[in-house]
Amino acid sequence: ADLPAFANEPFTDFTLPGNKAAMEGAIAAFKSKLGRHIPLTIGGRRTLTEERIVSINPGKTDEIVGYVAKATREHAEEAMSAALEAFESWKRVGVEERADLLLRAAALMRSRKHAFSAAMVVEAGKNWSEADADTAEAIDFLGFYAREMLRLSEANALRPLVRTPGENNRIEYLPLGVGVVVPPWNFPLAICAGMTAAAIVCGNTVVLKPSSLTPVVAYEFYSLLEEVGLPPGVVNFLPGSGADIGDYLTAHPRTRFVSFTGSKEVGLRINKLAAETAEDQRWIKRVIAEMGGKDGVVVDETADLDAAASAIVAGAFGFQGQKCSAGSRAIVVEQVYDEIVGKIAAAIGKLTIGLPETNAQIGPVADRRAYDKILDYIDVGRAEGRLIAGGGKAEGNGYYIEPTAFADVAPQARIMQEEIFGPVLAIAKAKDYKEAIEIFNDTEYGLTGSFFSKDEDRIAYALEEMFCGNLYVNRKCTGALVGVHPFGGFNMSGTDSKAGGYDYLLLFAQAKLTSRRR
Ligand code: GLU
Repeated sequence: ADLPAFANEPFTDFTLPGNKAAMEGAIAAFKSKLGRHIPLTIGGRRTLTEERIVSINPGKTDEIVGYVAKATREHAEEAMSAALEAFESWKRVGVEERADLLLRAAALMRSRKHAFSAAMVVEAGKNWSEADADTAEAIDFLGFYAREMLRLSEANALRPLVRTPGENNRIEYLPLGVGVVVPPWNFPLAICAGMTAAAIVCGNTVVLKPSSLTPVVAYEFYSLLEEVGLPPGVVNFLPGSGADIGDYLTAHPRTRFVSFTGSKEVGLRINKLAAETAEDQRWIKRVIAEMGGKDGVVVDETADLDAAASAIVAGAFGFQGQKCSAGSRAIVVEQVYDEIVGKIAAAIGKLTIGLPETNAQIGPVADRRAYDKILDYIDVGRAEGRLIAGGGKAEGNGYYIEPTAFADVAPQARIMQEEIFGPVLAIAKAKDYKEAIEIFNDTEYGLTGSFFSKDEDRIAYALEEMFCGNLYVNRKCTGALVGVHPFGGFNMSGTDSKAGGYDYLLLFAQAKLTSRRR
């Protein structure tokens, strides 16, 4: 009752000297712990393993962030047992107590904000603002889902069932069971926290398999949960390889649901594996998957061209384009095409590239694999379009790639169709806004999109016709805020879930109706 209404965590203004100094201090503090040994944790018990995941700084590849325990299938089996056991008690813990755990975690994270952001600067290669936004979003998810669970528990008061004489009817949201939570490396804190928090606040228990690229950030989050009183076994922290323990856990007959954020390939694989029913399995597994995107910005001739160009550049190159919401396509009508292309090239030319801890705008991409793949796509792009900016490796002791843009790309070109997940923008010309929207919709994905125009009728048309889960008008297509812009897309972008929205927790719960007569 005395819980304040949800409000988004404000972003930090790093131009203020105090904030800048605080962030520098947090980065130095994180770096003084480089090379730590990180355990896996099952039922609250920490274990180091012989084999390790070596997590490195993608912006300075000789810097080892941590040696992280690597779980085997035996560990996965133990973690499943621990989660099953914990489920028996956790599902009976009151909603308020579960919500309160999240609220305490949010408060503690807020008090150590820059420490979490610093971890992402070093382990994920985020610049300060990207890292700060990630931490803010994690705090938001914790606070939002805590409140959502409380709301869900009051469903009978908020949305009363139709009454019938002589009966007392109620609906209650029960947890599902043990969930396997597989978050991505690109929002190593926010999405890890959001997926985990949503699952446990509903009364589920979790085996959390962090991304092998960002296990240290995930461990910091796990440790925070423990610090605020997470009972043993409610979350089991299990770093390891996807092909190995990921598949094993997905296929496990006791797994009740899999919550995944990552690539289309892995998401489809999980969906397929989860659909197989083992002999002694008693349910149909639920899969909640948030996958890729080939998002884009459509610009018509009435648009504010400066605003459009800067939104295109921000959406395409924020965190090096490594967001499923990244606007990797721009589709511009011919009247203003050359002008926009010029503005984009000029804006890219002003971007600074460098080590994330120095807060350069553009940092490294995730790892060697991403680096090679993106450079291959840039070669593809040379054949498919006209290079207007970037075009190759950038200097630095890490996976640095120049922000790259190609103009005059055909709608069916590979760089207009395939998710690159890196700093590569493809620009296409359309004869008018309707054709531009057709090109925008011509994708197997459907996550985010932006429409830039000043014409009300066209805006109405775009709102109706652009097929994506998050459609923005006259703003960039990245940066969804929890509660404000529930996030998730259509088609191959996933299972149409909406993280940070009012429907999200229902994915982790099942409704029980009780009908009572005297
Ligand atoms: N929610 C983020 C945004 O709106 C993107 C999340 C993702 O890349 O997975 O930019």
